[in-house]
Amino acid sequence: MTPPKYLCERCTNCCRWPGDVKVSDKEITAIASFLGLPENGFIQQYTRLRANRRGLSLIDQADGACIFLDGQDCKIQPVKPQQCRDFPNAWNFPGWRDICMATEIPAAK
Ligand code: SF4
Ligand code: SF4
Repeated sequence: MTPPKYLCERCTNCCRWPGDVKVSDKEITAIASFLGLPENGFIQQYTRLRANRRGLSLIDQADGACIFLDGQDCKIQPVKPQQCRDFPNAWNFPGWRDICMATEIPAAK
């Protein structure tokens, strides 16, 4: 059976819940370049160690939202991390459907 696919409705809830937003070395290069920052400066200013200490995550705002969420928009949309692009189709977690407003696309028959 083909798994269901979901169309993001840009509710931004996934940018607001706590947890790591993983960034790879390649993503760090791309985001730093997009922001016009040296990589080291970007790492110092916008990242922290992941909970499992195996890499870096974007930091949060005081309310727990991702540091790059601005109202309903992602400030780094063209270069946002793969983790953000992949949710909820490539990964999700128990209970995600209660929070995510994505529309289910009926599977082709
Ligand atoms: S990088 Fe953008 S899409 Fe990803 S969690 Fe932050 S605000 Fe949301
Ligand atoms: S929670 Fe779901 S619908 Fe809302 S922005 Fe994230 S993926 Fe899109």
